[in-house]
Amino acid sequence: MKIFTVSRVAGFMCLWLLSALVATGAEPGPLQPEAARERMVLLRGQVAYHDELYYKKSAPEITDAAYDALKRELSVLEQQFPALVAGISPTDSLGDDRNGTFQLYRHRERMQSLAKSYTESELRGFNARLERQLQRNDLVYTIEPKFDGLAVSVTYERGKLVRAVTRGNGIEGDEVTVNALTIADLPRELSAKGPDGLANPVPDVIELRGEIYLPWAEFKRINVEREAAGEAPFAHPRNVAAGTLKLSDPREVAPRKLALVLYGWGAWLPSAGLPVSQRAFHAQVRAWGLPGLAGYSVGRSADEVWAAVQEFDRLRPGLAFPVDGAVVKLDAVALRAEVGATEHAPRWATAYKFAPDRAETQLLAITVQVGRSGVLTPVAELSPVSLGGAVISRATLHNADEIARGDFRVGDFVYVEKAGEIIPAIVGVNVARRAAASRPFQFPNACPSCQAAVVRVAGESAVRCPNSECSAQLRRRVQHFASEAGVEIEGLGPALIDALVTKALIRELPDLYRLRRADLIGLPGVGATSADRLVASIERSKRAELSRFIYGLSLPQIGSVSAQALARRFRSLGGLASADTSEFAEVLGPSAAAALAAYFQSSRVRVTIAELLALGVAPVASFATSTLLAGKTFVLTGTLPSFTRAQAEAKIVAAGGKVTGSVSRNTSYVLAGEGSGAKLDAARALGVAVIEEAAWLTLIGEN
Ligand SMILES: [Zn+2]
Repeated sequence: MKIFTVSRVAGFMCLWLLSALVATGAEPGPLQPEAARERMVLLRGQVAYHDELYYKKSAPEITDAAYDALKRELSVLEQQFPALVAGISPTDSLGDDRNGTFQLYRHRERMQSLAKSYTESELRGFNARLERQLQRNDLVYTIEPKFDGLAVSVTYERGKLVRAVTRGNGIEGDEVTVNALTIADLPRELSAKGPDGLANPVPDVIELRGEIYLPWAEFKRINVEREAAGEAPFAHPRNVAAGTLKLSDPREVAPRKLALVLYGWGAWLPSAGLPVSQRAFHAQVRAWGLPGLAGYSVGRSADEVWAAVQEFDRLRPGLAFPVDGAVVKLDAVALRAEVGATEHAPRWATAYKFAPDRAETQLLAITVQVGRSGVLTPVAELSPVSLGGAVISRATLHNADEIARGDFRVGDFVYVEKAGEIIPAIVGVNVARRAAASRPFQFPNACPSCQAAVVRVAGESAVRCPNSECSAQLRRRVQHFASEAGVEIEGLGPALIDALVTKALIRELPDLYRLRRADLIGLPGVGATSADRLVASIERSKRAELSRFIYGLSLPQIGSVSAQALARRFRSLGGLASADTSEFAEVLGPSAAAALAAYFQSSRVRVTIAELLALGVAPVASFATSTLLAGKTFVLTGTLPSFTRAQAEAKIVAAGGKVTGSVSRNTSYVLAGEGSGAKLDAARALGVAVIEEAAWLTLIGEN
């Protein structure tokens, strides 16, 4: 699996600029031409640098707001000093996402960007300009959420999907059809019959314009998985969507559930079929069975438009997808033709950008955590502050480089940004409030847990504790192994793991399977009953599903998707541990294959695997051979008359279903046997269907 690291913090100059703007609350004052020239050269360089990161690498280092601030300052200077505008300024360009690894495709009709508005008066000015130009005051607008993803053009010819292309430079873009086809609700064919059953003609050629994005729930799921794997979480769903769409292997694209929304069009042939309005377009998109816009508003005056824009901003935290603004479009297509376009954007639309949720608070401390692979991660401890509907008291700082770049000092007043599920990030320092005695943060040279001297891997920004016996790493590894994503040992939480490691009852993973009832009784929160339950749960985990077991082992570069591929290929723990690089390369990329082979060659790892096998650990390989239970989630409780829990799990997985440990509203069925307890109560409380063995066998077609 490819890993792209994303850092949200600026180079020093950008931070300085951002801080200066925020601190004074105003744009910089008038400059002399010589100073203006220098400043413009600097700004152009920075905009070009950040364009490259944003559009080509999908890995911006600064927030959108900071980037917009750079472009606006440059734009203001260009207006003040037109004589200094030499050649093409980046403020005119719309960026370019072509990255050189895809086939290029030329759009039939140019894919333009949208003009931006940032204030109420700019938005009102947009309406006033159109009223002047069209000589009328009865204009109707649609107000749509501005999805924060990657713009694409999807072409259908005679109703059949033929290609998906990114915007690129607006003239030609990267052809990403194969990756786009992993999107579940992108139909291969337009429905020639509308929902009313009436004929629904399809054009000969149509270029539909829209956005590929990552819904918040999926963004959150991916980050939970990354954190469990000891990887830095992604900072923003847009970058994940853009990065994912540009992966070279569609098999890596599919597990990340990208989504698509279509909100406009380019070529439309024959043009006789063109919709008369944006509203008619939205209805047509739905009638063809395409993913259209779920909600938009209509405004008949500047007041109504402004009210609708504010309403979107108010609703934004509750939306299921990332939104960074509202797009206002002239509804009538005939009037659009009258007002036309500039070289880069239509005159009939504007994108109003919402201000990010930002707060200023004090950085109280920087603590350094040790991950299960030894990576030291700094975390900002903040004076609690309310932001984006939540109280924020911590923010990730990613790594030592980021702290140094931003010069974040303990005691500083910092700006924190957050939107939706985005992890709060520190985006700048209010230098005006910095204490005279403050000093730059010194990143520790020793592991805060075991005091081993830290190492820095060449070419990586991560700093690691190299001590394989470091107890902080061990705790994290055991936590991950026992977690729901791993072998799921119920009742073995972080506090108990801490106690077991502190008392040296666990010095390495196999010790988990040497724990006896007597070792557990008396540990914090453990009585006789819970000790019995825990022992049973540990015993059960010996026969956990193989891919979860593999994932739980914290192997280098192996996330849950790779773990599934390994389980399918090797079918047993012993088989996996004795494979070589070329065998791993059948299901993994070259670097992961080499890393895994090297890992299993270490004598310490060999001993660990041998011990696990000797202790009776035998994870079960199970694979879907049918789709009878596809999309269904089961929770097992109690003892079934004819099957062990592992056998029942294997049958459910083989039928395409999923088994989880705890009952939630997403549970499809609770399969209950003799002695069912709390899970049965939970199922009843949540209204989840409870079935017994006989009914379950009917479901999987074995009764
Ligand atoms: Zn350590």
